[in-house]
Amino acid sequence: MTEIAYIALGSNLDNPQQQVLQAITELDALPDTHITAVSPWYRSSPMGPSDQPDYINGIAELKTDLNPLPLLKALQAIEDAHQRVRQEHWGPRTLDLDMLLYGDQVIDHPELQVPHPGMATRNFVLFPLADIAPQLVLPNKTSLAELLENCPSEGIVRHSLGGICGTTG
Ligand code: AMP
Repeated sequence: MTEIAYIALGSNLDNPQQQVLQAITELDALPDTHITAVSPWYRSSPMGPSDQPDYINGIAELKTDLNPLPLLKALQAIEDAHQRVRQEHWGPRTLDLDMLLYGDQVIDHPELQVPHPGMATRNFVLFPLADIAPQLVLPNKTSLAELLENCPSEGIVRHSLGGICGTTG
């Protein structure tokens, strides 16, 4: 069955702009999957250790026939192809892909929690998500608008990637 999934992208190493734009192309090339929207990009201060570069963050909306776990595996394969080094928790990374939402499903699996546990409080997730899906309601019936009311915009700014990939900045 075709579902809509929202994927958060983040990068703060090795030319982050290129990393996230390339990842968009790779997400669109996944089997039985295509991208239906890409948010504007944001520059955000790092969570955790602050002695690392700012991140570029954004959201892709996908229509996919992949089930959640195969989709997670596909996201991890893309991360690995970007030579992500999993060293420090919340440390710098070439590419991070998180599955925020998968249709209206709630998933509690050892390898996959959906909605993504961190999404409700992360401004670098909620702001770009609202840019492409302002009417979104989470499976627990909380609206994205409600989450944004309690979410400061500190530490993030809209970032122009030069209009590549149809994004605005
Ligand atoms: P991180 O290094 O923070 O990107 O976390 C990666 C780990 O989170 C992987 O082992 C995944 O199995 C797990 N994980 C759990 N839920 C999710 C999700 N919704 N999206 C991506 N990874 C997830």
